[in-house]
Amino acid sequence: MEYSVLGNTGIRVSRAGFGVLPMGPSQLALPVDEGAGIIRYALERGINFIDTAQYYRTYPYIRKALEGGGFDDVVLCSKSLCDDYDGMMEAIGEAREELGRPADIFLMHEVRAGQLEERRGAWRALVDAKRQGLVRAIGLSTHHVDVCAAAAEMPELDVVFPLINCAGLGIRRGNAFATREDMMEAITACRHAGKGVFSMKAFGGGSLTARYQEALDYVFSQPAIDSVMIGFGKISDVDDLLRWMEGTMPADYNPDISKKKVHINHEDCEGCGACKAACPAGAIYWGENGLAEVDHSKCLTCGYCSPVCPVRAVILY
Ligand code: SF4
Ligand code: SF4
Repeated sequence: MEYSVLGNTGIRVSRAGFGVLPMGPSQLALPVDEGAGIIRYALERGINFIDTAQYYRTYPYIRKALEGGGFDDVVLCSKSLCDDYDGMMEAIGEAREELGRPADIFLMHEVRAGQLEERRGAWRALVDAKRQGLVRAIGLSTHHVDVCAAAAEMPELDVVFPLINCAGLGIRRGNAFATREDMMEAITACRHAGKGVFSMKAFGGGSLTARYQEALDYVFSQPAIDSVMIGFGKISDVDDLLRWMEGTMPADYNPDISKKKVHINHEDCEGCGACKAACPAGAIYWGENGLAEVDHSKCLTCGYCSPVCPVRAVILY
């Protein structure tokens, strides 16, 4: 496993990180022991960077995985959607309590265009938390080019966690789509400003899993990206990544995604209706909360709904 240092933080992380979202209650809902076992398996193979979030409800998996000790260099990142000071401080405390140790890195979760001002209370909390030694580094995660570019100009910000993939899926600028080149320009500005960069959604929420090696080639070849966070839901996912990293994966190999289903992530869905309009099977309907839902008895897993979603809320797992 190769390692890099996140910008000017001095924090050393594996080039591939472990995103725990897929094992949690909003996706695979694995039993705690099973999920913790997958995390330990990855840690034993050199992955030392773990990403979670208050919203994911996955702290128990990480706590269990670390219970036996032996992984002193693990770097934990969590984040919160809270927009006010007290909420963010509580989120940091909650992570510390439920993880059984502090998160090393804490972020404002999924900052959208124009939100930096309205979430300034949460940002002040992160700045104070770092000053008080509650966390080692602070930053934000975002799908938005303009937010990533703004992060480069924030003096107290240490790290940024942007969305980037080979197809440019889900990259936004304001309410419009943007390209992978746009995001790479913003990421490079962060890099030049000494920020640590770790990226998300290399597979575009599952839509690019059938282009597995091409997707990984793209993100891992970007010199401005220190680490790439990959979501793992089973041991074979970890093995696939390690085989690719070690160069032992056959050139024509792509994971079998035939048993996966389409889901809507309600954390991200904005209820715009683009997926519903694109669906040839009438498989998408409005749920009680006004957000899109998939009727799996009708879904053809054709994937037409995924590229049209402006926020990458259509995911395959
Ligand atoms: S995968 Fe195809 S059939 Fe299924 S919800 Fe999306 S567009 Fe409709
Ligand atoms: S296209 Fe995306 S944001 Fe729009 S309704 Fe469908 S899932 Fe929600």
